[in-house]
This record gives sequence, structure tokens and C-alpha cells, in this order.
Amino acid sequence: MENSGNLLIRNARLVTPTGVREGDCLIQDGRIAALGEVKSPGPAPKLDADGGYLAPGFLDLHVHGGAGADFSHGDPAAARQIVQLHAAHGTTGLLATIVPGPIARMRRAMAAVVGVPGILGIHLEGPFLNAEKAGALDPGSFLPPGRDAFRRLVTGFEDQIKVVTFAPELPGALDLVPEIQGMAAVPAIGHTAATYDQATAVLDRGARHVTHLGNAMTGLQHRDPGCVGAALLSGASLELILDGIHIHPAFVRLVVEFLRGRGELHRLCLVTDATSASGMPEGSYRLGDRQVRLERGEVRLADGTLAGSALTLTQALRNAIRFANLSLEDALTLVTTNPAGLLGLDCHLGTLAVGARADLVLLDSDLSVRATLRNGEIAF
Ligand SMILES: [Zn+2]
Repeated sequence: MENSGNLLIRNARLVTPTGVREGDCLIQDGRIAALGEVKSPGPAPKLDADGGYLAPGFLDLHVHGGAGADFSHGDPAAARQIVQLHAAHGTTGLLATIVPGPIARMRRAMAAVVGVPGILGIHLEGPFLNAEKAGALDPGSFLPPGRDAFRRLVTGFEDQIKVVTFAPELPGALDLVPEIQGMAAVPAIGHTAATYDQATAVLDRGARHVTHLGNAMTGLQHRDPGCVGAALLSGASLELILDGIHIHPAFVRLVVEFLRGRGELHRLCLVTDATSASGMPEGSYRLGDRQVRLERGEVRLADGTLAGSALTLTQALRNAIRFANLSLEDALTLVTTNPAGLLGLDCHLGTLAVGARADLVLLDSDLSVRATLRNGEIAF
């Protein structure tokens, strides 16, 4: 469909911050101009939503790849392919997530994603991580925390980097917090063997996001509440890879019911942690430099270690509703308002409101994606 950010969507179920209501959505110059009953649409082309849900486009804080391509390989054409694959599953904005490697290569990977539409910025997942909790990342590329190494890595990309994941228990790691804050990025903890006390200390000192809660970190034991316990009791936002493989459905319920009881569901974000195997048939793929295999929906290294996912955010959304008994409106906040809030984008992304950017997804009642719009233009 040809339009330049002008479109009238008729007969939708609008998922607004105050609930779901039937109506139309008028888009002008890439922004939402009117919601409800739109009487005089002018010359805008029309799309009949036929009762489908019109929601804010999904935002994914943790994506390595898709469609056979990996952000870490530093190819701008491949980066566009990845964005396109995720747009087909409702994602209008994502953080290109770069795995540890030689600093020069990580910088090439960052340079390749700058300016790609649909990429909101960069999530550096390392290299200041704990080898004991490497998961599928290559511990040979991990570095001890240090200001010099940090600056060699990030200089020139300060405006692009939005999240930096590090292991707070490593010597010198706490010095990274002001460095990360200094470029207005989110200090996040992950791939960490931190004790409850170590994790609590860094969450009190400015870390405000927890990368894939439960995975590659110390778990919740009754005498040793670990990083998971510290994360839950903090005010930090929490990522979940909600594929039903990385975490048990009951763990999802525990987290959701705990947060809901505190009135803090806004802290929860669903991510895919998608690898190049996402959207591909079963077979061998790569995560950074490592060979991974997609089989029966699971992505693993040869030794069986889980290596990211082949998850899509639509599937994560369905799982959230199924595992934790969430309403559609509440589940949608986990992939829209909540990640937008963490990134400080909530005034124009992640919400269906007049004036917001028309990054939207049109969903059938089974939550399959009928169309995805970015800046009011059809992206899928
Ligand atoms: Zn990851």
C-alpha cells in the first residue's frame, strides 16, 4: 500500500492506555492524528481493520538476529533483514544486541546498525561478564571491567547505546555504572554470579534493568536469594524470555503475581533474545562466532546449552496470557509501554494516543499479525 504516513484505519478495536474501545485511527504525517469516530478523513487511504486489535507496535530490548542474519556480523543489509523479520511479528522497534567479541568487531557491528529504520539503538550484552555464567556467549571474549576498555568500546556510539549488560561482582564493575549513566544508557545486570548482597548493592547504585531474569544468573534459593531475589525486591525492570523453554511457566506466574501485588507490572518486559535462527527452518546457524542448532523450536550449542531463542514477540505475548493469566491489555504493556518507559521513549512510542508516533500493529483475535506500521507506513 502506498502512503506517506497518511492512513485511516476503520473498524478497529483500539488498545488505548484507558482500555479497549471500538473506533478508527487517523494517521497524518506518521503520527496518530485522531482516535475514535473519525468523520472527515480527507484524502487519506483507508484500511478496514474488520474488528482486529490495533495496538502500539512491539518493542524488543534484546534481539541478536533473525532470518539467518546476526547483528554481530556487522552487515547493514543483514540488519535490515533482521528488522523486517521481526516486523512480520509485530515489532516496530528493537535494540540490536551485540555479543562479546574483539572490540574492533563489536564496533563494526555497532556501526552497521546506526540509522537502520526500526532499530532504536544498541544493547551491549557484555563484554564485562562473568565466565561462570557465560551461557552460550563466548567467555574467551569477556573482558575485566575497566574504564579504558569501556571507552575504547563505546567512543563514537554514545548516542546509540541504550542498554549495557555487565556482571556487577567483577572487580571494578561498579565503576562502569557512572560511565554507562554518563551516556544516558541503562546499566543492566546479567550473565552474573552475583550474590543477593552484590546484586542488591549495584541495584541500589544505579543499575536499573535485569537482563533475562532467571537465565545466566544466581537463582532464588531459600537461604541464598541470589540475583533473582535481589532483582525482584529492587525497583529495576526485568526481562523475561517467555518461550516456555528458558523459564518454567510457574516462574512466570510467580514473577507476574509478585509484581502485580506490588502494583509494579510496569517493571516487566518481554524479550525474544532471538538469534539468526529466528524465522528459519530447523538447522545450523550462528550466534556471534558460535555454531548453534535450531531443533523443535529450541536453539542450543552442540553441548546442549540454550543459546538464545527462535521466539517471536507475538508468541511471547500468547505465552504471557496463557502462563500468567494476563489480560490482553496487560500483556500488551509488557511489549509496548514498559520497554518504552525504560528507554525514556514513552511520550511518543509504545502507546496508542493522539500525537504518538504511528508505530502500530494490527492483530487478529488469535494475535496473529495482519499488518505492522512504522511512522504510519506499512512495514509488513
Ligand atoms: Zn542475548
